[in-house]
Amino acid sequence: MRCVQRSFDETAMRRAIERKRDSGELLPEQWQAIVAGYLAGAIGEAQVAALLMASLWRGLSSAETAALTEAMVASGERLRFPDGMFVVDKHSSGGVSDIVSLVAVPLAAACGARVAKLSGRALGHTGGTIDKLDAIPDLRTSLSLDEFVAQVERVGCAIAAQTDELAPADKRIYALRDRTGTVPCVGLIAASILSKKIAGGSNAYVFDVKCGAGAFTPSLAEAQALAGELVAVAAHFGHPARALVTDMNEPLGHNIGTGIEVIEARDFLAGKGGDARVREATLRVAAAMLALAHIESPQASAEGALDSGAAYEKFIAMIEAQGSSRGALESMALPARVDEARATRSGYIDAIDAIALGNLARQWSAAESTGGIAVGVRIGDRIEIGDVIARGYGNAARAATLLAAFTIGDTKPPPRPLVYTAV
Ligand code: URA
Repeated sequence: MRCVQRSFDETAMRRAIERKRDSGELLPEQWQAIVAGYLAGAIGEAQVAALLMASLWRGLSSAETAALTEAMVASGERLRFPDGMFVVDKHSSGGVSDIVSLVAVPLAAACGARVAKLSGRALGHTGGTIDKLDAIPDLRTSLSLDEFVAQVERVGCAIAAQTDELAPADKRIYALRDRTGTVPCVGLIAASILSKKIAGGSNAYVFDVKCGAGAFTPSLAEAQALAGELVAVAAHFGHPARALVTDMNEPLGHNIGTGIEVIEARDFLAGKGGDARVREATLRVAAAMLALAHIESPQASAEGALDSGAAYEKFIAMIEAQGSSRGALESMALPARVDEARATRSGYIDAIDAIALGNLARQWSAAESTGGIAVGVRIGDRIEIGDVIARGYGNAARAATLLAAFTIGDTKPPPRPLVYTAV
């Protein structure tokens, strides 16, 4: 490997780009040298961008995805939990109104699993769990690695911001992918996600791979390929994993934004309001985490902890450990200013543009922490002219801009499952 790294200059990089362009496979030591060289400034952005674009078009083999993952893990520190402590983590490939982490993490912990969740910020139109948690007054999401490990040991769960020490190469490469239109590539997404999970020190992972118009992998085939790759490459590193391919053709929950999503998760955990799709998604993800942690009767345990309020109490314990309080959480309220979007014709909700709603909600919640959107309908709902279909909350909200995100047709569209595949 050393020999490749030492001699990996501009010419070697050009050969690697050409090989990928012509559908060839790069060796693990080449990936290692490329990642190390890019981080060190020895390989320029133009060449890395060209390689990323060739990778997007030609794809990466599982061996290449594993090699890229390993190289990105090796670029930083690797978290270690105490010996004998089995820790699970979950990751979403990115969705709109995706409150699964806020619910499933304390839910699995309330059933006895130890859950260590390192999360990112919003990406494109999708929300970031850390931005949502930052809307809870006084809550700290920047924990040191030692604080994070200690909290998982003491409370059973923690959700903290991904630190710069873990997989720094992913941060650099991700930013370049974002600028060069090379995000939607199964191998690159899998390596990006896995490098952070492996560096994060957990033993086992559940991946919630979103599929549909509002996801980074819109087609079922792509989402299934990503799910399969995540599980296979995790196994290559000795980490058991499960993946669910779940629907993102419409927002998962009703609320979209940051604090407004915390309010929905809080009320759901507290037993106030029970959206069926949110319930199914959170129970399925929590049950998969419990199965990986070898906890008996995963589904029944998860249902019990949700319905008894134990998961809500665990959520309170988690936010208290991170500097906030029950009172602060329970005082969070929707902004007084509401702007209602009303249907301009009768019919059935045929499509909901989750990307458009996600982008609007990002702006509105940036202006006011509980600002955002509450969607009042689901695809397939019958509505009459004048019915409220969505509400914009906060001073920045403009309901008229919401209407274009809803397509109303004459016939009821066929129902879609929430979970398409479980790997
Ligand atoms: N989430 C990630 O962490 N990385 C990707 O490449 C896409 C989604």
